Amino acid sequence: MMGEFNLINKYFVDRQAQRKDVILAAGDDCALVEMPENVSIAISTDTLVAGTHFLADAPAAWVAHKALASNLSDLAAMGATPAWVSLALTMPEPDEAWLAPFCSAFFDLADYFGVQLIGGDTTKGPLSITLTVQGFVPKEQALRRSGARVGDWVYVTGELGDSQAGLDVVLDPNKSTKPFAQELLYRHFHATPRVLVGQAMLPYASAAIDISDGLISDIQHILTASHVGVSLDVDALPLSKELIQFVDDKPTAQQYALTSGEEYELCFTVPEEHKGAVDTATAHCGVQVTCIGQIRPQDHFELHASGEPLDWSVSGYDHFKES
Ligand code: ADP
Ligand code: MG
Repeated sequence: MMGEFNLINKYFVDRQAQRKDVILAAGDDCALVEMPENVSIAISTDTLVAGTHFLADAPAAWVAHKALASNLSDLAAMGATPAWVSLALTMPEPDEAWLAPFCSAFFDLADYFGVQLIGGDTTKGPLSITLTVQGFVPKEQALRRSGARVGDWVYVTGELGDSQAGLDVVLDPNKSTKPFAQELLYRHFHATPRVLVGQAMLPYASAAIDISDGLISDIQHILTASHVGVSLDVDALPLSKELIQFVDDKPTAQQYALTSGEEYELCFTVPEEHKGAVDTATAHCGVQVTCIGQIRPQDHFELHASGEPLDWSVSGYDHFKES
């Protein structure tokens, strides 16, 4: 069995090109980095625990992607540009058959976004992964949850609901024979953090959040922080054709889109005067953005489907099943 230091050196040290602002990466007691001028540093930490956030037998490469993507998604939601990441890894024993694919997927995604691993910690214990990502955002321009105003338009990136369908397949092997089950399972682990959209919307969006707990739940954070309400058009929710076939019908797919967590799509609000800029600003980002509603005064929470108001709190899931 490999010792801790050999393991760190083999798998985590000198795996990437050195960023100019990294003076010292892994190897000493601390990493040393240089702060650029006129930016704030955006910092976020997330932990993934085996058995809670992924099953212990999930492919290591998929777990690595999910761990880093979910962290980068938090930077994306602030409009920040990723720069540095540290990794605290706890594993029952030094398992090289797990570490090799984990690291290769981790560094693939890190390299794609130009984020450098600058340090971490490696300990023995139940499998868990804690990442701290840091990025830059121009001073006073970060996209917060608190900036939405009445009349602003509500947008989401990508398609919603696929991640929940993939999770269904993880949790119920019987579902693995449903249409597109394997594709949706793959998507659950392979979200693309919407870093480019976050950056592109910096001059235009009034508020943003990434969808980690489900649209309905996460948009509440914007509403609470901004002291506003919302009206959402359920028919406008972007759905993949794979999801619709997997769940059999559109209303159920819409239900998934409203509640699916770990999507790592962005939800952002845009004032009327910037509505015309959204498509052009995001054209180079390689992902669709869809307007799904509008900000209303505080305490208004309206959902519409087929032109009819939908009382979410009363009818919830059942309404969708029956319609
Ligand atoms: P210390 O005892 O000072 O905490 P460690 O033995 O934990 O030092 O780590 C030695 C060096 O290796 C440090 O620079 C640390 O940042 C780095 N390191 C340890 N584990 C990891 C990891 N999983 N990924 C990246 N760097 C790591
Ligand atoms: Mg340590």
